Amino acid sequence: MKIITTPAEMQAAAQTLRREGKTIGFVPTMGFLHEGHLSLMRLARGRCDVLVASIFVNPTQFGPNEDLDAYPRDFDSDEALCRETGVDLLFYPTPETMYLEGHSIWVDEDSLSGMLCGAARPGHFRGVCTVVTKLLNIVLPDFMVLGEKDAQQLRVLRRMVRDLNIPVDIVSGPTVREADGLAMSSRNKHLSPEERAEAVCLFQGLEKAKSLFAAGERDAAVLKAAVREVIEKTSGTVDYIEIVDDESLQNFQPLETRHAGDVKPSLIALAVKFSGARLIDNAVLSK
Ligand code: AMP
Repeated sequence: MKIITTPAEMQAAAQTLRREGKTIGFVPTMGFLHEGHLSLMRLARGRCDVLVASIFVNPTQFGPNEDLDAYPRDFDSDEALCRETGVDLLFYPTPETMYLEGHSIWVDEDSLSGMLCGAARPGHFRGVCTVVTKLLNIVLPDFMVLGEKDAQQLRVLRRMVRDLNIPVDIVSGPTVREADGLAMSSRNKHLSPEERAEAVCLFQGLEKAKSLFAAGERDAAVLKAAVREVIEKTSGTVDYIEIVDDESLQNFQPLETRHAGDVKPSLIALAVKFSGARLIDNAVLSK
């Protein structure tokens, strides 16, 4: 595995590989890798000649009062995990080489970014769209693998690639969970032992909504209240619990029939704040 730290060197390597006719698969991450990230790398590994992973804690997607400085980092462990998982090129740039002095071009998604995490984190998706555009221009992958854990990010980036005609396929991988159901996340490290035990409430809330839905419940207010009840038994504070149309991410009285017997899928998504970390999770409700 080769570690590359500058955009110019990474882009030159990618151009050479493309000229040689090699298929490049790409998994972008912010590091502090866990099994969720590794599952995406394995998914990509099986479909490409050359696997590129990136580790970049992107400053522009963090708000002024967010956890940029506290974001967990462990490059030595990440490097070993990438090596074991079959990464060929690990792109590990500095913020200074990614954002040159006077950087002034941004990629702004205008519709799906306003709600859910976008409402709670203004500017977040502008930072995500900008950095992913840059990474795609640097790594030149045939496909990029993203996790379903970040449901809104996945939908925003699919839209970006479509609307900007970016020549890359997006492949998604399912959310990898701890044994009790908590979605793996680099931020879980910041939970106290008590909060870690309580954090399973996001998964439990979603499971409750899914079972009510399976039993025929179609009222968004009832489903959301059921999730809230589970969260409110813990020290976590609900940031949002929303049921939205899976495609437009607009709030939506869910689950109405589109054609006879065909239920339009909804996304149920939530964010919960603990003292150490803000956690997100989601599930798709469909028949
Ligand atoms: P991050 O390092 O948190 O920015 O995540 C990098 C990529 O890994 C994103 O595509 C995430 O959606 C994905 N990811 C993060 N956590 C998980 C998980 N528990 N299961 C599957 N994918 C994940």
